[in-house]
Amino acid sequence: FLKGKSAIVTGSTSGIGLAYAKALAAEGAAVMINGFGDTDAIETERAELAAVSGAKALYDPADMTKPDQIAAMVARCHDELGGPDIVINNAGIQHVAPIDEFPIDKWDAIIAINLSSTFHAVRAAVPHMKAKKWGRIINTASAHSLVASPNKTAYVAAKHGVAGMTKALALEVATHGITANCISPGYVWTPLVENQIPDTMKARGLTREQVMNDVLLAAQPTKEFVTPEQVAALALFLCRDDAKAITGANLSVDGGWTAA
Ligand code: NAD
Repeated sequence: FLKGKSAIVTGSTSGIGLAYAKALAAEGAAVMINGFGDTDAIETERAELAAVSGAKALYDPADMTKPDQIAAMVARCHDELGGPDIVINNAGIQHVAPIDEFPIDKWDAIIAINLSSTFHAVRAAVPHMKAKKWGRIINTASAHSLVASPNKTAYVAAKHGVAGMTKALALEVATHGITANCISPGYVWTPLVENQIPDTMKARGLTREQVMNDVLLAAQPTKEFVTPEQVAALALFLCRDDAKAITGANLSVDGGWTAA
């Protein structure tokens, strides 16, 4: 149902972003992927997306800490794929440390990548969506856009920021056929979660098993990690015309975490 549409997914060389890209391509969208990683592995993913969609697929290496590179990525999508009709802001990083030891450069990087990149991408994309009177903006927020955990000040601040920004944006574009929503996953098994286990072990003096069961899954009533594919399935629904009345929402996919 996305034939003829184009989509940018930031941070889509891995984890949830890659699942979004695959889901969009499976519906025929031309997809622009973005993120860091091994050049050959990225090229393999890009080629697979093109094969699956029957449309073009491009990779853009824009660094989400660089506003000019983000604007150039959106312009390139417009020139080479049309649109963008769909923008999924998903690039994100995490750092776990008590606030009095929190590295200042990590604070700046998390705010830039997890929050400000969303502003820059949307700012550049909205004129193209307004021109077509159709658009879908989906921001990967987090359960941490609704509740907090200790030692994650930057991440929690950035994700609450994404949720607030999405609401304001939704109001601005509401009469232009454009929707803007957040998806807020609980713990999804991706490299981002796997990589924070050693720091959480250190910060809280726990074993790997204790971190997985007593810290991560403790928050999730289902006691199961969410899958990237489950998150992507919701994003796909938000792209349907059936979903045009869903805007300004923060949709949880968190195994019940934020109900508690
Ligand atoms: P991941 O580490 O698997 O993927 C992150 C992606 O962002 C990668 O493609 C990486 O290359 C890219 N990236 C990082 N820094 C970048 C930069 N400066 N410029 C461009 N790309 C950059 O992580 P994930 O778990 O798939 O996370 C994706 C999003 O989902 C993030 O915004 C994260 O905060 C959010 N999220 C994840 C979970 C979870 O449990 N995994 C839960 C809630 C929200």
